Amino acid sequence: MVPLDEAQAYVRAQCPNPTVASVLLSRSLGHVLAIDVEAPENVPRFDNTAMDGFAVRAADTTGAPIRLRVVGTLSAGTTLDLKIERGEAARIMTGAPLPAGADAIVMLEQTSQLARSADGSGEVEVEVSVPVGNHVRFTGEDLKFGQTVFLAGTVITPGHIGVLASLGQTQVRVFARPRVGVLSTGDELVADSRSLSPGQIRDSNRPGLLALVAASGFDPVDLGLVRDNESDIEDALMKGVEDCDAILTSGGVSVGDFDYVKIVLDRIGEMRWMQVAIRPSKPLAFGTIDDVPVFGLPGNPVSSMVSFELFARPGLRAMAGHTVLDRRSVQAIAEGPLDRRPDGKIHFVRVTVEYRDGCYFVASAGGQGSHQLSAMAGADGLAILPDGSGVGVGDVVAVLLLD
Ligand code: AMP
Ligand code: MG
Repeated sequence: MVPLDEAQAYVRAQCPNPTVASVLLSRSLGHVLAIDVEAPENVPRFDNTAMDGFAVRAADTTGAPIRLRVVGTLSAGTTLDLKIERGEAARIMTGAPLPAGADAIVMLEQTSQLARSADGSGEVEVEVSVPVGNHVRFTGEDLKFGQTVFLAGTVITPGHIGVLASLGQTQVRVFARPRVGVLSTGDELVADSRSLSPGQIRDSNRPGLLALVAASGFDPVDLGLVRDNESDIEDALMKGVEDCDAILTSGGVSVGDFDYVKIVLDRIGEMRWMQVAIRPSKPLAFGTIDDVPVFGLPGNPVSSMVSFELFARPGLRAMAGHTVLDRRSVQAIAEGPLDRRPDGKIHFVRVTVEYRDGCYFVASAGGQGSHQLSAMAGADGLAILPDGSGVGVGDVVAVLLLD
């Protein structure tokens, strides 16, 4: 058997480097920045007010309460063509530029307007004395022209999108997210809701894997349900190679009589077949067809998903330019026993994970057979059980967090 870390390192080393692409800002969420971003302008662009109130000369307000002559009104998006002289003020709304001559804002609540005429002019009584810069948002206070705003490698969040928009960026240079083809194989499989003939089962791997691909931030491509014969499998794989950056197959990679995926991959690809020292998901085929990475995942439903988590997701994340490839793992306390027997393998047990009182707690999410997908659906994590006889109540165990 191949140790897990060796198999993972092998897969990662074979996955191609990320490629650079331009995407619309509105489509950049979750992408990885391919270049450093510099500020092409100051944010804010101009000194402006953080409050509704009056723009004043701070020196005029010493000895408040005092009266000032109101010489104009500024709303956000307007400018004023005059200078505030000594003894004068302008009404001003949040976001409006500070008029020339003014150096502070008095908030509306600390004034009372006297004798206001229709054009907004009149007098205001300022009740407090304010320092220079009071409630002023200064030019470049958020971002300065020319500064490096984000580094290459940053994963774009909604906050980054807001900042990039504030800098007028409509396109972003990112690493392309891989298009990932998914096909399932098996004569026993039925893809829809029709009633099953004896021996048939429903194809759950393809929908599940397509969803994992999407949930991981890659573009899923459905390559269909393929029967157990060489020419159909080859056609589907070749379609995938043309259209996708990576391919996931499920089923047909064991040592059974009808495991044609193995035969075809060996013929048209350069594959390494591994029995990885883990449970579930021991069999793994990984290699390339025309430089497109192919992950031959096992057919058992839980195995296909665990194999995706341990091998495909990290490799695909590397292709998408991520530097953090693995799920986060934490130490947790077992609230129920997690049983196993010694077999030379690391076991990945589907568990619920709860965080309370500063600790993570885990418990089995249900039946741990590799066909029992319901425990996978109910799992928040995979407890990592080293070889041995399992974990008792209160023992500490490492867990990979799935969300
Ligand atoms: P195989 O690796 O093709 O021998 O499949 C191993 C087990 O997984 C068998 O019980 C298959 O019926 C089952 N299986 C394979 N592919 C799928 C699939 N797409 N959906 C659900 N079960 C599957
Ligand atoms: Mg099969």
